[in-house]
Amino acid sequence: NTEKKALFTIFGGTGDLAKRKLYPSLYRLYKKGYLKKQFAVIGTARREWTDDFYREIVIDSIRDITDSPEHALKFASHFYYQSHNVTDVNHYDTLKKLSNKLDEEYQLNGNRLFYLAMSPNFFGIISQNLKDRDLITTCGFNRLIIEKPFGHDFESALKLNNQIRASFEENQIYRIDHYLGKEMVQNISAVRFGNYIIESMWNSRYIDNIQITLSESLGVEERGGYYDTSGALRDMLQNHILQIISLLAMEPPTRLEDKEIRTEKIKALRAVRLFEPNEVTGHMVRGQYGPSLDDSSENLNGYREEINVAPDSQTETFVAGKILIDNFRWMDVPFYFRTGKRLAKKGTQIDIEFKNVPLNLFDNNDEPLPANILTIYIQPTEGFSLELNTKKIGLGLETETLKLEHKHSAETTANSPEAYEKLILDCLNGDSTNFTHWDEVATSWKFVDVIREHWDNETVNFPNYASGSMGPTASEQLLITDGFKWHWCP
Ligand code: NAD
Repeated sequence: NTEKKALFTIFGGTGDLAKRKLYPSLYRLYKKGYLKKQFAVIGTARREWTDDFYREIVIDSIRDITDSPEHALKFASHFYYQSHNVTDVNHYDTLKKLSNKLDEEYQLNGNRLFYLAMSPNFFGIISQNLKDRDLITTCGFNRLIIEKPFGHDFESALKLNNQIRASFEENQIYRIDHYLGKEMVQNISAVRFGNYIIESMWNSRYIDNIQITLSESLGVEERGGYYDTSGALRDMLQNHILQIISLLAMEPPTRLEDKEIRTEKIKALRAVRLFEPNEVTGHMVRGQYGPSLDDSSENLNGYREEINVAPDSQTETFVAGKILIDNFRWMDVPFYFRTGKRLAKKGTQIDIEFKNVPLNLFDNNDEPLPANILTIYIQPTEGFSLELNTKKIGLGLETETLKLEHKHSAETTANSPEAYEKLILDCLNGDSTNFTHWDEVATSWKFVDVIREHWDNETVNFPNYASGSMGPTASEQLLITDGFKWHWCP
């Protein structure tokens, strides 16, 4: 593995994301030799910490994955802490001095990766100061990684984007959507474009509908304060779900490279039918969890009883919908999705339901043959299955459904690179395939804004689903109306 040389500056270096995801990911890259001698990390936040204290925190965050205490210590010796208030202009001068010193000491050739692991309210001011106070180098690369959420509607996203673009070019901005770093999400392209039998059937002639489920079993836990201002629509549909849909729906790119893939994804997103306000109700379902049912083994609170949540909150913790894509390939094929908290089981999977044979020739022909289903399992287990109809052993000609399934072993899954590790390496390589481009962000917000506006004008009767169920009955009804049902029923 070729060594990548860079200075990482992590804003929000004392935060949860840095400790849980960023330090372990950097360590994994170190173990694999992508990071060796020529790299340094500056952690910044408002608190006053010494380098030694910071290094202890880093070592603690990688405790479960270290080869040996000596190896961890060697890795941590590349970490430096700089107390820094992002709104204080003078602090950027101190940061610049340290950056230049480390650049020289580790021979980093001016390569800089700025990771903004803090509230998006600060993205604008940080990027402006990085430029104004000369932290952006003239030699080497300068790349900015930013976390979600990117705005809360199109207008705010545009404003944020303009602020960042005043200092960084679009091709220097890496907007994280950690779903795009997941092995199986990246595998959607391999399944489609590596198998002619699949790609040749990947259209409205053979596919009846597609179902995407991103289900969480936990509630909002301690994040009620943030979540109550966001909700499932903004938190999940605008980014992860529309990104997955664009990967499923896009035309084959001429090459598996960022520009080509992006062009196709954006074309697919632009073909997503925008709802008229009066169409929202027929296509979208929202829900909020209440307590668990009386006979359930767990006694769980409803959303409105969670800490920092308004007792009459109208925030949705569940959203399901039917998305249509107006192009030759997908005309009239519904893409159903659902996502929510406190659902029966945690898991992410995509079910692709193929059209049925025109006539059931078999003995059990009083009902139609079950449809062929291709399932892509994304988490917690990664893998595929394909359901086919075969002959039941016996004298007659009855059929039964057989499931061909491959799920990666727990060991393979554990060894597969974490989303953040992959994404950081992609960024070091200048590969933006698995990051979201501004055009994608903008198109997604425009789709979501229509729904949000319509919903904000109507009071809804919440809660409408029990903790531990699979969401409100209206989500089932959404498919029943079209003659389908959710394939995954945990
Ligand atoms: P956090 O609250 O744990 O950390 C925020 C960091 O910012 C802390 O280090 C804090 O000291 C620092 N900070 C706050 N105000 C500052 C100031 N004025 N000057 C300098 N530093 C300041 O937050 P987090 O959970 O680590 O999340 C960071 C970002 O990542 C957010 O945008 C969040 O939405 C996103 N994100 C987090 C996760 C996660 O798993 N934690 C997952 C996805 C996205």
